[in-house]
Amino acid sequence: MTLGPDELARYARHIVLPEIGGAGQLRLRRARVAVVGAGGIGSPVLHYLAAAGVGRLDVIDDDRVDASNLQRQTLYTTDDLGVPKAQAAATALARLNPHVEVVPHVTRLGRDEAGALIDGADAVIDGSDNFDTRLAVADASLARRVALVSAAVGRFEGQIGVFRGWEADRPCYRCFVGAAPQRDGLTCAEEGVLGPVTGVVGSLAALEVIRQIAPFGDDSAGKLVLIDLLALRFRTLSLPKDPGCPACGAPATAG
Ligand SMILES: [Zn+2]
Repeated sequence: MTLGPDELARYARHIVLPEIGGAGQLRLRRARVAVVGAGGIGSPVLHYLAAAGVGRLDVIDDDRVDASNLQRQTLYTTDDLGVPKAQAAATALARLNPHVEVVPHVTRLGRDEAGALIDGADAVIDGSDNFDTRLAVADASLARRVALVSAAVGRFEGQIGVFRGWEADRPCYRCFVGAAPQRDGLTCAEEGVLGPVTGVVGSLAALEVIRQIAPFGDDSAGKLVLIDLLALRFRTLSLPKDPGCPACGAPATAG
C-alpha cells in the first residue's frame, strides 16, 4: 500500500517530519480509531484525526446538536441544530478529508456496545460526559489491548491520560480512579466550561492518538497531564500501576 499523489500533497507537512515520514503516514491511513463522545473534546479530536488521514474513525455519540454546544463544539454550525452529532460530524469530516472513512454510531455506549466498537481499533479516545461510559470504555479497551486516551474538562481545567494497562509496568484507568470510583461530578452544563479549554485538551488528545499510532517521541502511557488554565499551568504526573488493581493486577493463581 502506498500513498497516492493527492495524499502526498495533503500530508506533505507530516511526511517531511522525520518522526512521521511516509511510513508513519501509512500507519495513520491503516489505523482505525474509536472516538467516544463528539462534543467539546471530540470536536478537535475528530478535526485533527480526519485532517491527519486516520483511515477510519468510528464516531460514537447519542446526542443531538443543541444551541448551547456551539460555543465550543467547533465541528457544528447553526445549520446542524437538532441533527445527531455523530451524523453531523460525519458530514463535516467528509468535507475536510474524503480519504477518511467516518462511521457514525448514534448510540449511548454501554458495556455491550463498547466491546464491539472498540474491537480491532488501534486506539480509543474517550471524551464522554459520564462515568458509566468511561468505565465501560476503559474495561473494553483493557480487555482488547487497545490504547486508551482519556480526556476530561470542566470550567478552566482539563486532564488527559494515556493507558495501556495490560503491560506489566503501565497503569490502567482503574488504577487511576480506583475500583469503585465516585459517580459523576458536576457536568459542563452545571459548572460551565470556557470554549478553548476543550480545544486545548481535545488537541492534546488527538496528538496522543497520533503518538500511539505513528509512534513518535517519548511514550506517554501512564502519564497524566493536569491542565489549569486559570493559572496557565500544565503538570505531568507518572501514574503508578496498582498491584492490587482488580482490572489489570496479577490474577490470582489458579488451583
Ligand atoms: Zn489497573
